[in-house]
Amino acid sequence: MTTSRPRSEQLYAEALQHIVGGVNSPSRSFKAVGGGAPVFMKRAQGAYFYDVDDNRYIDYLCAYGPIITGHAHPHITAAITRAAESGVLYGTPTELEITLAKKLKSAIPSLDKVRFVNSGTEAVMTTIRVARAYTKRNKIIKFAGCYHGHSDLVLVAAGSGPSTLGIPDSAGIPTSIASEVITVPFNDLDGLKQALERWGDDVAAVMVEPIVGNFGMVMPKPGFLEGLCAMAREAGALVIYDEVITGFRFHYGTSQTFGAFPDHAAIEPDLTALGKIIGGGLPIGAYGGRKDVMEQVAPLGPAYQAGTMAGNPASISSGIACLEVLEQPGVYERMDLLAAKLADAIKDSADRHGVPLTVNRIRGSFSTHFCAHPITNYDEAQDTDGKAFAQFFRLMLEQGICLAPSKYEAWFLTTAHAEADIDLTIEAADNALRQLAR
Ligand code: PMP
Repeated sequence: MTTSRPRSEQLYAEALQHIVGGVNSPSRSFKAVGGGAPVFMKRAQGAYFYDVDDNRYIDYLCAYGPIITGHAHPHITAAITRAAESGVLYGTPTELEITLAKKLKSAIPSLDKVRFVNSGTEAVMTTIRVARAYTKRNKIIKFAGCYHGHSDLVLVAAGSGPSTLGIPDSAGIPTSIASEVITVPFNDLDGLKQALERWGDDVAAVMVEPIVGNFGMVMPKPGFLEGLCAMAREAGALVIYDEVITGFRFHYGTSQTFGAFPDHAAIEPDLTALGKIIGGGLPIGAYGGRKDVMEQVAPLGPAYQAGTMAGNPASISSGIACLEVLEQPGVYERMDLLAAKLADAIKDSADRHGVPLTVNRIRGSFSTHFCAHPITNYDEAQDTDGKAFAQFFRLMLEQGICLAPSKYEAWFLTTAHAEADIDLTIEAADNALRQLAR
């Protein structure tokens, strides 16, 4: 099968006239995979996308993470429809918000109190503000290649989209702000120690993706999170876990309650940022944590954060319904098995065809890096063959397999992927890797 996409090309030409770069999020552009028109989708159902030229694709992009139950899941669609019929926005509190807050709290013990916002960006941005208000300090330590949304403070050494497009340090951020951020390599406790020795008295928080999802899927080394939390606390700084990708991705909870990894103790942060899956595909973010820290937030405390759309009934209903699907027994185990089958087969194909490939799988998601070395930090993830990835991406797309157009992004499984989809994908990857080897 090869896909042809004349209508996508037409629409892209038209979009370029009206929408900057033709896309509403730069990570959707095909700039890093050889340029040209991205695929314009028309419809999505279960594990499949259908484009405007009526090609079908098996979806592993999954909207960069939120779509974990497949597209248009009937339970979520029904909840959104009910919400729409009851009026989509009130500007008043609703009982639904309490339901979702209680669900999050029961799955994530470190959340004494939460607040809903509209995106992961807002959630992270606010955790930083709250940490600064609580500690009365200014600086933030982050890890190179972690992506925490597009607020000013965290667009320094940012992975994901910014790295894909070659702009990990965004323009438009005053040096006075960038100088408040200290960047340390992921998995490097010595680097963190040095940063804390130098700036510790003014560090409000150490922020981390506890399992990285933005320069591939990367596990913390055993002891890394434990060391990070201990050192941060000794320096009087708070610990912020950005679980926008990892929240409910690997199991029903977050990586801080991750019993599935025997090497990793469950270390609780002071604040957690959430997004993506907890909205079931509608816009959402949430942040929460220790009661005394969260009580910094208005109307209780002096740190201001607000939102016209925050906690809107449609997003909250969608999120509750999504978590109800994920609560069912066996859901995560099935995704893990399918991901393992797929990831192992891709690695086998690459070995057979002599293509250097590192596959980092964490339960139901994985990343593919065209290199021979392991990927444990951002430098290693950068030092991979972007041209080989671009070629692989295109060869997969032509065979109806949709990946993210970036060598840094992960493949996501959903509850909708079937064994037959995995088999088709294995065959397509084998073809692609055979051609790459030539
Ligand atoms: N934090 C992490 C870990 C993310 O992966 C993302 C988005 N990819 C964000 C924050 C920002 O979330 P949003 O795009 O919803 O603003």
